[in-house]
Amino acid sequence: MYQDARTLCTTRQQLQKKEIKVSEVVQSCLDNIGKTEPLIRAMLRIREQEAMDMARELDRQGPDKDRPLWGIPMTIKDVICTRGIPTTCGSRILESFTPGYDATLVQRLKQAGAIILGKTNMDEFAMGSSTENSALQKTLNPWDLSRVPGGSSGGSAASMAAAQSLGSIGTDTGGSIRQPASFCGVVGMKPTYGRVSRYGLVAFGSSLDQAGPMTSCVQDSAAILNIISGHDHLDSTSSSTPVPDYLRALDKRKDLQNLRIGLPRQYWEEKMSPEVEAACKKVLETLLEAGAETVPVDLPHVQHGVAAYYIIAMAEASSNLARYDGVRYGYRDQKARELMDMYRRTRSRALGEEVQRRIMIGTYVLSAGYYDAYFKKAAQIRRLIHQDFIKSFESCDLLCSPVVPFTAFGLGENVDDPLQMYLTDIFTTSLNLAGLPGISIPAGTGKETGLPVGIQFMGPAFGEELLLQAAYILEQSLPPLPFPAALRE
Ligand code: GLN
Repeated sequence: MYQDARTLCTTRQQLQKKEIKVSEVVQSCLDNIGKTEPLIRAMLRIREQEAMDMARELDRQGPDKDRPLWGIPMTIKDVICTRGIPTTCGSRILESFTPGYDATLVQRLKQAGAIILGKTNMDEFAMGSSTENSALQKTLNPWDLSRVPGGSSGGSAASMAAAQSLGSIGTDTGGSIRQPASFCGVVGMKPTYGRVSRYGLVAFGSSLDQAGPMTSCVQDSAAILNIISGHDHLDSTSSSTPVPDYLRALDKRKDLQNLRIGLPRQYWEEKMSPEVEAACKKVLETLLEAGAETVPVDLPHVQHGVAAYYIIAMAEASSNLARYDGVRYGYRDQKARELMDMYRRTRSRALGEEVQRRIMIGTYVLSAGYYDAYFKKAAQIRRLIHQDFIKSFESCDLLCSPVVPFTAFGLGENVDDPLQMYLTDIFTTSLNLAGLPGISIPAGTGKETGLPVGIQFMGPAFGEELLLQAAYILEQSLPPLPFPAALRE
């Protein structure tokens, strides 16, 4: 949590008690945007006028106790459909696409009283780890403007670190909430697959995608999760497991007594930068002091996680992205003279290099003759990884590991080496393959670079309550992060 930062939970109390006006809250976010956005470029669209109009309307109506996010300005990753607001997915092909409907999660946020302040930048179709694959603009890390904010939800992470809104929604297919949260020093929660409806979330890897909150503190994460979770008849993979009150749950646990935290050997023994290792080991000491017990656990198949993830994610992407044919959505090349030519020209021009690479590899791994060698094998590995996690929870209640082996890297450092870029996801992708929840929490800053380091808790299916409780206790035991130096006046 940032020192002195306005949080969603404290603000909503002030709003409900009429100690502050919605228009003042929105104005202070807009002021922060005005100051920081020229430096970090986290937002693709800012709804200044609409948000202020809405704020005045809410002020006129007065607080509503039944709307838990009443008057709270939020931003949404641009892969999530917002009615009447362009939703580009960071791609040229959807640059002119404005959805006629809200994603279920957006509808729920609005019903709860949230104000949609803007849409955040991202890697094109959420494919990437640095937000450099956005076809529309480059977002910079608020802690060091020569570095990436992480990705693919880099816009949301950078925006939160710059206090541009009180909460943001990102998506995590292989780490895209947790990794940028770690690089920018914010809290990022990837819920269990099926916890949050995917209706209105533009599909990348449908069996892996999950939306979740990116916030400045754990309480705010719980408050948002309360609203966006739950069954939705418009998404057949959404779960009807009851939604507990995540915010209330935070008060139910005062320490970590009797909590067994598993440390996956395969993650902790992996090569990582000394500053990340030091910060994460420090967290382990803090956890022990809070009463937890740590136990070594094995996840023997996660070493194949990155490979299996990229095969499955690309296979699903190649199928999901077939719909961008120049006929139904967005951009269409006007020069083509016949249908095939139109498809080819449209897709070659309006989809970026990484997206085209993934469509090609995805098509290849699904093709007759290669399916058994690649896709089927990856699916088998996925099952084994899932079993590894299930087994690990026989000897512990949750797992803990670093989020990324290093702090934010430099702009341009990995763009020409896709394999190196893929390897940044080494600690995150397996959790998506297993469909389980994870939360990334700031663990302090690195000794050498001074950049934020993240630590993640991973839990059993629908174990968000426990993850949030543990994260909350850890957060209170760690010193708060200062506001990013690069943005200080
Ligand atoms: N970095 C991973 C990828 O490029 C994860 C992306 C994501 O979670 N959306 O696929």
